[in-house]
Amino acid sequence: MIEIRDARKSFGSHTVLDGINLSIARNDIFGLIGVSGAGKSTLLRCLNRLEELDSGQIIVDGVDIGGLRKAELLEFRRSIGMVFQQFSLLERKSVYDNVYFPLKCTGAKRQRVDSRIKDILDLVGLGDKMHALPRELSGGQKQRVAIARALVSEPSILLSDEATSALDPNITESVLGLLRRINRELGLTIVVVTHEVSVMKAVCTRMGLLNHGQLQALGTSEEFFLERPELLTEFTRDAGW
Ligand code: ATP
Ligand code: MG
Repeated sequence: MIEIRDARKSFGSHTVLDGINLSIARNDIFGLIGVSGAGKSTLLRCLNRLEELDSGQIIVDGVDIGGLRKAELLEFRRSIGMVFQQFSLLERKSVYDNVYFPLKCTGAKRQRVDSRIKDILDLVGLGDKMHALPRELSGGQKQRVAIARALVSEPSILLSDEATSALDPNITESVLGLLRRINRELGLTIVVVTHEVSVMKAVCTRMGLLNHGQLQALGTSEEFFLERPELLTEFTRDAGW
């Protein structure tokens, strides 16, 4: 469970988060939508303290993460996986080594985690590509490597920042299907940031609309799509939703 209480953040005189209050339940797929510059990435980065709040609290499973010291913070970050828009893969390393990398950094011996890495590569559908280099993969496959890498530390929360916006619609669909499966099979809580309504519609159980640093609307996906579709019209890439 993630609880955000009156979160505020400014860069200089520019207020980016202006009093956000939000609860995200365990096992939810929560979608954060908003125009460019609305503060979506900033809020997501505050969830694992890549960015610090100016005031307010973020409480994850009962722990106020603002109070974590350095060693505790590193431990906490391991419980949160993050996937970015730019896949940020190590180009000279194989798919397998990319996924092994976060474990290697914590000192885990390859032998001990080998089966876990292979299981995760199977889960994301890349079992037969583990020796390939990133440049030999499609965009969707690279994103699957990034998701596998985020999952290999066995996090309880996955943060996805525009993970599909660089992808073609049908590849997007397969990555979103993977997020749904991860949510169902591994029981992860997932927070998805996007500026595309079709992505929200495909995966999210609840969603929030961020506007000028405030949550302008919050509700289940059905509430948005059935009762307040006018709020979402500016986020439709095509008319297909
Ligand atoms: P996009 O959809 O384009 O990714 P976003 O909703 O993710 O947008 P943020 O990246 O959170 O938006 O940025 C919100 C605002 O904060 C922007 O105006 C941005 O310029 C500003 N901002 C973000 N990070 C910094 C920083 N480190 N220093 C100064 N300003 C920043
Ligand atoms: Mg962003």
